[in-house]
Amino acid sequence: MKILFLHGWHSVPGGVKPTYLQDHGHEVINPALDDNDFGLAVMTAQVEFDKHLPQVVVGSSRGGAVALNIDSGNAKIVVLCPAWKNWGTVKKVKPETIILHSRADEVIPFADSEELARNSGAKLIEVGIDHRLADPEPLSVMLWACELLGSGQDLLQLDEGLLSDDDAATSQKESSYICDACGEEIIIPVDLSEGVHQKYVEDCPVCCRANIIHVEIDGEGNANLWAEPEQDGD
Ligand SMILES: [Zn+2]
Repeated sequence: MKILFLHGWHSVPGGVKPTYLQDHGHEVINPALDDNDFGLAVMTAQVEFDKHLPQVVVGSSRGGAVALNIDSGNAKIVVLCPAWKNWGTVKKVKPETIILHSRADEVIPFADSEELARNSGAKLIEVGIDHRLADPEPLSVMLWACELLGSGQDLLQLDEGLLSDDDAATSQKESSYICDACGEEIIIPVDLSEGVHQKYVEDCPVCCRANIIHVEIDGEGNANLWAEPEQDGD
């Protein structure tokens, strides 16, 4: 996927983090941002965003503040120890944002990200051992966050994934649909981990005719199902 990477203060394009994303097959746009003029840095980032329309914007430290201050449309945001209190005026991120921060960060307080997460309803993940977040663990969490958000999955599933690793049963739910052919109510298991929009063909266990089953998972994790007859093409 296409990722716009916004580097930190006194950093330069081509650092460990954008290189890591690139090495994992992503197209990374990594503009040089002015160190002294925050407004100019935001303008540069906005021009690159509008030109490339990335699915995900990653902002590191001061670059995290830049990410908050551009108009990022429908793109998803991943910020690493964002310095939002030090630069810019924006005090919130989109709720479907992932914030990565180490509690041992010696430059930007972990509490700043706790406050940002509270302001926004965003997801804060504690990871790493310092401000740089350039060790293997934070790098892999950054990649995972980009791929999760960029794939269009929502944070409901992120919560499920984090909380229920040892309890696969919680991602299974029972729901029912009415068979279009015979009118029977059919109860089936729904696997929430398959995504919020699912569509598959299943034969009705009562009348054996094929239905296309549509599954929509809402924001509360409730499954809504309906069936339509499968077109047989003649
Ligand atoms: Zn039926």
